[in-house]
Amino acid sequence: MQSRLLWCSFAVSRFAVRSSFCSSMVTTTRILLLSTTTGYQLRSFGDAAARLGIELVLATDRCHHLDDPWQDGAIPVRFYDQEGSLAAVLDGVRERSLTGVIAVGDRPTVLAARVTEALRLPGNSPLSAEATRNKKVMRQRLSGAGLPVPWFLDVPLAADLHTVGARVRYPCVIKPLGLSGSRGVIRADNPGQFEYAAERVRALLARPDVRALRTGLEDVLLVERFIEGREYAIEGLLTRGALKVLTIFDKPDPLDGPFFEETIYVTPAQLPPEGRRAILDALQRATAALGLVHGPIHAECRVGPMGVVMLEVASRPIGGLCSRVLRFQEEASLEPISLEELLLRHARGDDVTRYEREESAAGVMMIPIPQRGIFKGTKGETAARSVQYVEDVRITAKPGQLLEPLPEGDSYLGFIFARAAAAHTVVAALREAHQRLECEIAPELRVI
Ligand code: ADP
Repeated sequence: MQSRLLWCSFAVSRFAVRSSFCSSMVTTTRILLLSTTTGYQLRSFGDAAARLGIELVLATDRCHHLDDPWQDGAIPVRFYDQEGSLAAVLDGVRERSLTGVIAVGDRPTVLAARVTEALRLPGNSPLSAEATRNKKVMRQRLSGAGLPVPWFLDVPLAADLHTVGARVRYPCVIKPLGLSGSRGVIRADNPGQFEYAAERVRALLARPDVRALRTGLEDVLLVERFIEGREYAIEGLLTRGALKVLTIFDKPDPLDGPFFEETIYVTPAQLPPEGRRAILDALQRATAALGLVHGPIHAECRVGPMGVVMLEVASRPIGGLCSRVLRFQEEASLEPISLEELLLRHARGDDVTRYEREESAAGVMMIPIPQRGIFKGTKGETAARSVQYVEDVRITAKPGQLLEPLPEGDSYLGFIFARAAAAHTVVAALREAHQRLECEIAPELRVI
């Protein structure tokens, strides 16, 4: 109880500081976006900001060598260098007071928390943001709060994997502590599979591109019980501790391993009211356990024999192109707005509780990479696009690019979007469009 009171007063005082500051001095509403990418989501934020008359300030780690490589005035940061990046951001906004901060993607969440803390803006504490970036700490926090959590143990990479594999229970899941997008997440059903999987994750964590991320979490694996059940993703928005669920996505394809490639997200999820309530309750308890109080939330959970098990809770919105699926209305008669516009409105302090996702069902397929090799192109895009209810097909892989499937890869071939009256119609349209696509991949030439 005491800690709840503390949270409240902390959050309120941060808000009060901002509000009085706004009314007396700030004429421009300025929102800082911290991002690792420059793709669709930033453009969507840009469009929404222009509509709302908000000035965006960008901080990104896209390039380490040039000050302003994209000529967009972005403040150059390095997400692994928290101190230096915080100083760079504070310096960059010294004469431009900020109204709010939004982290786009997993990596910027901790820096975003440090910036809001330093500027006394509404946001999460750095400790809570850090907890969401470390899968072991997240498990500890959730189990400490009495939420159902699978058994878990951390294994140093240097450990004798044969010995560990002989001791754990099966089926289990092996995963890196600090990667995202299911990278390096592998199921094992027996000691032989455990050793193979753990070696594979060990090799992934030794790769230069992975080590370059400098998460500080590259030397330990997490091993945990495989949780049976159907998987859902939840998009939420916290306002000074109060959670608003924006939507629950169903993941209709089974995710039983050995790798856990996301394919279809469709909303609304087909859940009875008590199932929806149970997920909402679990997410509320999870955000409280992690100490998250303000801003967007993206969470994944499994619902099965263990009840609702939160797999992860991230203090950021759904990533990249997937957000296109979501549109919100304040009233059914009004034009829908994008998720990015909703988040900007929230970041500038608007009350967005009246916004609800539009009535139609909508979904996205993250097109899986079928095999490793050099991407040549796709055929059948027009045919895929012409499937009824399909809104768009976007191939994001570039010709000549090395495609790498999970568990090592970190991208998709592209995305298919559909919208219809019912979720099952959306799913059928996405599958049909996917079937019409043909992907050409040439063997990779290895240098000997
Ligand atoms: P990431 O942050 O890389 O996405 P997660 O821990 O969320 O890593 O795992 C990615 C996916 O792997 C999950 O969405 C789920 O499908 C599967 N998964 C992870 N842990 C488990 C588990 N203990 N039991 C069953 N499936 C799991």
